[in-house]
Amino acid sequence: MTTADTPVAKHWIDGQWTDSGEHRESVDPATGEVIGSYAMAGLKEARAAIEAARRAFADPAWRTDRLLRGKLLNRMADRFEERTDDLVELLGRENGKTHDQGRLEVAFAPETLRFNAALALTDTGTNSQVTDGELSMVVRQPVGVAGVIAPWNSPVALGIRSLAPALAAGCTAVMNLPWQTAQTNSLIAEIVGATPGLPPGVANTITGGHVSGDALVRSPDVPTISFTGSTATGKQISAAASANLKRVGLELGGKTPLILFADADLEQALPIVVSALIVFSGQFCMTGSRLLVHQHLADRVRRELGALLEAVRVGPASDPASEMGPIIDKPNVDRIDKIVEEAISAGAQVIVRGGPVTDGPLAAGAFYRPTLLEVRDNSLPIVQDEVFGPVLTMQTFATEAEAIALANDSQYGLSASVFARDVDVPLRVALALESGSVWVNDWARLHDQFEEGGFKGSGVGRMRGFAVIDDFIEFKHIRLRPGQTPAA
Ligand code: NAD
Repeated sequence: MTTADTPVAKHWIDGQWTDSGEHRESVDPATGEVIGSYAMAGLKEARAAIEAARRAFADPAWRTDRLLRGKLLNRMADRFEERTDDLVELLGRENGKTHDQGRLEVAFAPETLRFNAALALTDTGTNSQVTDGELSMVVRQPVGVAGVIAPWNSPVALGIRSLAPALAAGCTAVMNLPWQTAQTNSLIAEIVGATPGLPPGVANTITGGHVSGDALVRSPDVPTISFTGSTATGKQISAAASANLKRVGLELGGKTPLILFADADLEQALPIVVSALIVFSGQFCMTGSRLLVHQHLADRVRRELGALLEAVRVGPASDPASEMGPIIDKPNVDRIDKIVEEAISAGAQVIVRGGPVTDGPLAAGAFYRPTLLEVRDNSLPIVQDEVFGPVLTMQTFATEAEAIALANDSQYGLSASVFARDVDVPLRVALALESGSVWVNDWARLHDQFEEGGFKGSGVGRMRGFAVIDDFIEFKHIRLRPGQTPAA
């Protein structure tokens, strides 16, 4: 239980901690224990944060001084590095991530900040002599206050993935981070907010949900929204934002196919398939959730992958032997298991049943063991809908064309993996897949200098890469006709 003395995780608005007065408890999903309390943001806090960001944007020193912005983004990166252990520890306690997986998440923050510091410094615009003696130039100007909305599954990496380019562009920002990670949000706010030299109001952080998020989306003072979350929420945000012709960058759900061709090196591929399923306990937009296996490999994959999944060590982050932590909470364990039961009723064959851990020392937590189901019907919900848990379906194919057709028969198009020893097949398949990222003989390798984002229902726009800045800038064309005095 929290007591009157337990610190409350608060909002960081205009360079100050702010308490909304509505306090709730933060829970460790591995044990069900209360680990702290937090203040929940509503309309009032969202509006105060927008107002602070609007005032900060009015200061031309921030908007126009890219040297300052580059310097501060690099300082922020240093601060994230200094606080890595604290973030990893908190992500383990509040978000359930094993420490290895927490480190994987936290490592993104400094890299992303440094890449965006470089973007701030390397913008050279464009110009051209259009006709004799007349010049055109294009300058990039920040659009204004950016609304950043991130999900609970990776608040550090995903909050910063949107915040960094917003600040690099010269925008100011309000980050609406999810209540499920309130303690972590507070540490993010502390790290970002206390960056030496950062003007108050430039980066505000509130902990909230759909009420405060929707306030950002509907505010006429927030011209751009950078959202990461589910496809369903992305559609709602897109509809609500259109009332103000607001621009939206959307990084949404996924249903990543992992395609094993007949010549794939299974010794190398199967451990990657396991990681693709269990990293962040399957609560990752890029979770490998659809395994497509060439029919000649099927028996071996059922046997060997089944054994690897049975052997996954599920446990709390506090145990260094844990390979996969808990699900975010017990209601999500029940939700995932219901989807699995429905799939089995609809004809899915069980290879590894997995499921909720209901006895022993882990029973108090929200643990779910990895599950592998074989299906024939690509239209089943278990194949088509994001489960957001450690549940993998397996299907077989006979030809390359069939593999591509199965992979592309999806509302999603975020990412895919192709496993083969051949050189030509993976490239040909990668080009044919309707997918924003494709890895060959690997999974979820992301780099800040390369664009990340979704085809189809997985999103609009790109995060990372040079395109990341586009959500936060206006292009302005200035045409220059010099004085008409003839040269002497
Ligand atoms: P969610 O869509 O329920 O919520 C995401 C965020 O949006 C939360 O902060 C929430 O408070 C806020 N929100 C909810 N309704 C809103 C509304 N109407 N207006 C404004 N804000 C609103 O998603 P979640 O359950 O937190 O996260 C899981 C989802 O995120 C999965 O679908 C996953 O695939 C996706 N995701 C995508 C990426 C990516 O990069 N493509 C990365 C991580 C997670």
